[in-house]
Amino acid sequence: MADSRYDVVVIGTGPGGYVCAIRAAQLGLKTAVVEKDKTLGGTCLNVGCIPSKAMLHASELFEEAGHAFPKMGIKVGKPSLDLPAMMKFKDEAVDGNVKGVDFLLRKNKVDAVRGVGRIIGPGKIEVNGEGGKTQTVETKHIVIATGSDVARLKGIEIDEKRIVSSTGALVLGKVPEKLLVVGAGVIGLELGSVWRRLGAQVTVVEFLDRIVPGIDLDVAKNFQRLLEKQGIVFKLSSKVTGVDSSGKKLKATVEPAAGGAKETIEADVVLVAIGRVPYTEGLGLEEAGVKKDNRGRVMVDDHFATNVPGIYAIGDVIAGPMLAHKAEDEGVAVAEILAGQAGHVNYDVIPNVIYTYPELASVGKSEEELKQAGVAYNAGKFPFTANGRAKANQQTEGFVKILADAKTDRVLGVHILGADAGNMIAEAAVAMEFGAAAEDIARTCHAHPTLPEAVKEAALAVGKRAIHM
Ligand SMILES: Cc1cc2nc3c(=O)[nH]c(=O)nc-3n(C[C@H](O)[C@H](O)[C@H](O)COP(=O)(O)OP(=O)(O)OC[C@H]3O[C@@H](n4cnc5c(N)ncnc54)[C@H](O)[C@@H]3O)c2cc1C
Repeated sequence: MADSRYDVVVIGTGPGGYVCAIRAAQLGLKTAVVEKDKTLGGTCLNVGCIPSKAMLHASELFEEAGHAFPKMGIKVGKPSLDLPAMMKFKDEAVDGNVKGVDFLLRKNKVDAVRGVGRIIGPGKIEVNGEGGKTQTVETKHIVIATGSDVARLKGIEIDEKRIVSSTGALVLGKVPEKLLVVGAGVIGLELGSVWRRLGAQVTVVEFLDRIVPGIDLDVAKNFQRLLEKQGIVFKLSSKVTGVDSSGKKLKATVEPAAGGAKETIEADVVLVAIGRVPYTEGLGLEEAGVKKDNRGRVMVDDHFATNVPGIYAIGDVIAGPMLAHKAEDEGVAVAEILAGQAGHVNYDVIPNVIYTYPELASVGKSEEELKQAGVAYNAGKFPFTANGRAKANQQTEGFVKILADAKTDRVLGVHILGADAGNMIAEAAVAMEFGAAAEDIARTCHAHPTLPEAVKEAALAVGKRAIHM
């Protein structure tokens, strides 16, 4: 039940919203959240980061059990898939995490108001709950954290059964014989990897002439090569213009991006993974006068304030990378600002991870970005084939690349393609946050034998003095 007046009410309980609410409560602000979905935690916990990582983990082990175990002398026979059990494993991961958010909100005395929130005036949110029950919540500050929704392709209807978004791709009842993925971004490649490991033939159609746009091109090309070796087929510079679902098999029409001869690709399931769009439906932003940009994102200043006094916004609904940890950091920052502190997010140091095998993790600038900005840099690269632990584990795919300012040696970008890259990128982020030079990483003692020694060697390679190469 909502109390009469709050200091802060956050609309949405994704990683942006619930983290913001907890931080605000820690700082002594009387706080509530409004959530329209049955469970707390938003996209990330319910249909995003958590379930996808549970499926990636399980399917990676499934594949390892079939391919890597025998050569390590582990005989378990040919693994067979119990898909319902794997789905249960994933659902338990989601359940544990959403219950965790519920616990944390209670622990911090944050009220959770259930229903669709709509801003009806300065400091006033109307919440429409189940069964048409409506209540009005009053607050000094409103934080919009309503996240994002799946981007759709014109003319292709997502039914979440055969033509699916990431949400449907996380609950397929059986392994599709053929999976067509539209979009070679993070979500398409992660979920494409899951279903390939479980037995699907996967084709990825991408409009651009490269995969994972925004990632350092050299890294992206190597990544594509490794995914191709695993059996994923890429059709770049191509677009899916329609899907005929009248027959037993789906028939996707694929054309060159620049126009030209069409071809038909058959599939059992088509996964539309062309990105996500900010979600502001029914929030009452137009009536409240809150400005959005031409991509539908809520516009905010450096302090996450919209143009309407008392209304702030964070996470996927504003500009910037659509990542859970970016939303979380903005949640903390805006709570601190509302409490009179100096909340801040360093957008130059936001790591980005693709949790395939191998993983691809990066933080900071790519070579293309540095060239475009006219920044002179030195690059140091170290392959995992020369790393002792990677050799011991026989996981030698990929490399670490460090880009450092040519004059000051300050680290400007770190890119890691390899097993466990997602964990290794944290070291680079800490170093960059502290303004480290490549020399600083190079002179930091790294435990042996570990994969992060490759980070140290790449830092040494910036100064052309890698030891093991
Ligand atoms: C398949 C997939 C995998 C992903 N994997 C990763 C990953 O590995 N790492 C990563 O960093 N990011 C990942 N993401 C992205 C990540 O999920 C988002 O960046 C993150 O959830 C954004 O957080 P948010 O708080 O801004 O919004 P969301 O998590 O989208 O939460 C918004 C919440 O607001 C609620 N809401 C909306 N409107 C209203 C309203 N009017 N009233 C009440 N409630 C409302 C919604 O119900 C929802 O609960 C993934 C996304 C997907 C789809």
